Amino acid sequence: MSAPTIPETQKAIVFETCNGPLLYKDIAVPKPQANEILVNIKYSGVCHSDLHTWKNDWPAVPLKLPLVCGHEGAGVVAAVGANVSPDQWKVGDLAGIKLINKACLSCENCQQGEEPACGKLILSGFQTDGTFQQYGTVDAFQATKLPADIDLSSVGPILCAGITVYKGLKTSGAKPGQWVVISGAAGGLGSLAVQYARALGLRVIAIDGGDERGDFVKNLGAEEFIDFRKCQDIAKEIHRITDGGAHAALNVSTSEAAIQQSVDFVRNRGTVVLIGLPADSKVCLPILETVCRQISVKGSYVGNNWDTNEAIDFFARGLVKCPIKIVGLSELESVFKLMEEGKTIGRYVLDTSK
Ligand code: NAD
Ligand code: ZN
Repeated sequence: MSAPTIPETQKAIVFETCNGPLLYKDIAVPKPQANEILVNIKYSGVCHSDLHTWKNDWPAVPLKLPLVCGHEGAGVVAAVGANVSPDQWKVGDLAGIKLINKACLSCENCQQGEEPACGKLILSGFQTDGTFQQYGTVDAFQATKLPADIDLSSVGPILCAGITVYKGLKTSGAKPGQWVVISGAAGGLGSLAVQYARALGLRVIAIDGGDERGDFVKNLGAEEFIDFRKCQDIAKEIHRITDGGAHAALNVSTSEAAIQQSVDFVRNRGTVVLIGLPADSKVCLPILETVCRQISVKGSYVGNNWDTNEAIDFFARGLVKCPIKIVGLSELESVFKLMEEGKTIGRYVLDTSK
């Protein structure tokens, strides 16, 4: 394929300070370093983590400023760095940019394929510009191979939400036929968690708020829905449905209260997987009950390259679908507003051409 013409400038959404204006403007197209590729990003999902970042919900996380957020980018390789072999990437290949933009690949965790635990991660949309732009760079090793026939407009959410919940379900240890509770089930992560859980043979109780979200998650495969706005005692209802508690509970909501409740959802020897990251939140565990009931509480953070390949494969085989609404890149601010007001269902995806 002949090399495409790469423009000098591109459209991006940039903010100079947290909570500051989200500027839709022209910025320079970055040049790939020797070990990087340049991806012409066609679509990018909007993750609640982008909103947390812009709002400075996690002040301990260092940010590059001004910053282009976004870490669910899907596009076409536009250029490859000098050290990238043609066996690895060629111009014209389809590629994804996920949260992990670079890892050190030499620490104890990287050596064991546990890159999310690397202490020197460079994250897309945090320490380097992310995917709310038309061209972005990513380490060739961390870029995600996308099959040539994949739908670029809908694969984006797999690159954070999909990987994260797929890994989270594996972390839960739940086995086919067992019950898993997904708290925050109608959100970007939750809507994929329900489907991955079903594809893995699990039985799903979905928790979220409102009749529309109830219908939505049941259509995705949830066997039961509990409305957190109406149900007086969610744990009791789960114990009734599952005859003693779920085998696992995944929290993908943005609510500290929901996280705290999740600990009561599981049966003896059950596992609670913490994924949602509300600002300034804690979870408090009663020692006697946690010890004697042998409850595990585990944090789960995105996934490694292999989790990514598997998560993409489920999508490519049609086992999970991304429930998306596509809007223009310039409309990010209105998406953030809807997300903040709790009015989104599934995932919003930005079309970088608009
Ligand atoms: P989202 O806004 O799309 O979804 C959140 C969902 O939680 C919504 O459907 C909302 O209605 C629901 N919810 C709110 N309060 C609830 C309650 N009390 N009980 C049950 N449901 C409730 O957000 P998202 O993009 O899916 O992200 C979810 C969280 O996961 C965010 O905090 C995000 O930063 C975090 N995240 C973590 C990782 C990780 O690797 N651990 C990766 C990606 C995102
Ligand atoms: Zn994310």
